[in-house]
Amino acid sequence: KVVDHLKEDPQAPDRVEIPAHFHDELSSLAELVNDMLNRMQRFILQQHQFVEDVSHELRTPVAIVKGHMELLNRWGKDDPKILAESIAVSLTEMKRMEGLVQEMLDLTRADQVELTFTDGDTDVQEVIHAVHNNFQMIYPDFTFGLEDDLEGPTIVNMSRDHLEQILIILSDNAVKYSRERKEVHFAVSSAGPSVMLAVQDFGEGINPEDAARVFDRFYRVDKARSRKQGGNGLGLSIAQKLIEGYGGHIELESVLGQGSIFRITLPIKTKRINK
Ligand code: ADP
Repeated sequence: KVVDHLKEDPQAPDRVEIPAHFHDELSSLAELVNDMLNRMQRFILQQHQFVEDVSHELRTPVAIVKGHMELLNRWGKDDPKILAESIAVSLTEMKRMEGLVQEMLDLTRADQVELTFTDGDTDVQEVIHAVHNNFQMIYPDFTFGLEDDLEGPTIVNMSRDHLEQILIILSDNAVKYSRERKEVHFAVSSAGPSVMLAVQDFGEGINPEDAARVFDRFYRVDKARSRKQGGNGLGLSIAQKLIEGYGGHIELESVLGQGSIFRITLPIKTKRINK
């Protein structure tokens, strides 16, 4: 963009003569700067979202305590009943605030943990079968399908724990946001140099606006509900960081009210054909 701007500026050619062989380098430099600015902007937006969420959740207990203090101040001081009740409610709300603040601290710490990517010969087929079995065991009221189109063990160069963690994040979400259709479908296949994994649910789905943001740190579509369900908005951002760190990528296809499919692509290291 910088180079284009210089080119479009009628005065620029008089002042700046850019030798042709610098154009490519300048273009990639400009691209790098733009990319950095985009990342910074995204980061600021995420921080903003986080502060907004925290403030939102702290507002209720603060309002309740304030209400009781005002009540006491006006006419409750001499009424032992009001006094006792206000103290009890205020203490409960203070504890809630304390819990929230601790949770926020834990979250920021969890978010600051540097992910380290380690080499490893991990068999995708083995891991997805293991996760499929585990989920079937933990959630017996759900039906977990698995479509395995691999020819045999398919090795990726990554930590087994990380692959498992990614699949657990996606499967946990599929269960959490499944609504009444208790069905989750796993699929695994390969094409050329890549192995593809998919986790599909038939639950609440995500609208396109939110879909663009669910991989952001701390982003939750329905803040009140997902907190009740134990959400913190970090799962998908961790999954994405891990996948991209191992040279893969993750995509989301979703229709509101019908369900979501998260698709992962990872580079294959080797394939072993079972004889
Ligand atoms: P959380 O801990 O809140 O689930 P995630 O980062 O894993 O955090 O997900 C971010 C948000 O994306 C969730 O709060 C939820 O609103 C939405 N989401 C994730 N997975 C699904 C899914 N399978 N169906 C519907 N919504 C989802």
